[in-house]
Amino acid sequence: MSECIFCRIVRGEIPSKKVFEDEHVFAFHDINPVAPVHVLIVPKVHVDSMAQLTAEHEAAMGRLMVTAARIAREQGCTDGFRTIVNTGRVGLQEVYHLHLHVVGGPHPLPPML
Ligand code: 5GP
Ligand code: ZN
Repeated sequence: MSECIFCRIVRGEIPSKKVFEDEHVFAFHDINPVAPVHVLIVPKVHVDSMAQLTAEHEAAMGRLMVTAARIAREQGCTDGFRTIVNTGRVGLQEVYHLHLHVVGGPHPLPPML
């Protein structure tokens, strides 16, 4: 069994505040939120990072993006939100199981780029 922390969250071995789950993706609140809404969405299949994606991941990654929109709606991000994927050392990735951050809330977020 994988020791990857997000694989363990997907399997329920580590507790998380689950937001959504289907056959392709699992979404949960970030343990250290940077905004009122901060949800992480991961593919259930382990992929280290966006750099490792191949055609076999297309269905899961499509579901990941559609799920981001759905969660943003359900979390009340009516005026917009940010989606972030950190990749590799230069991308400041900390957890090496690909994940999409959905960050939003009632107040404007400071510019990042
Ligand atoms: P990265 O820099 O890799 O894109 O971000 C990893 C994110 O995962 C961070 O925002 C961090 O707070 C979150 N995180 C790390 N470990 C856990 C955990 O065990 N549970 C939850 N819910 N979030 C985690
Ligand atoms: Zn994993």
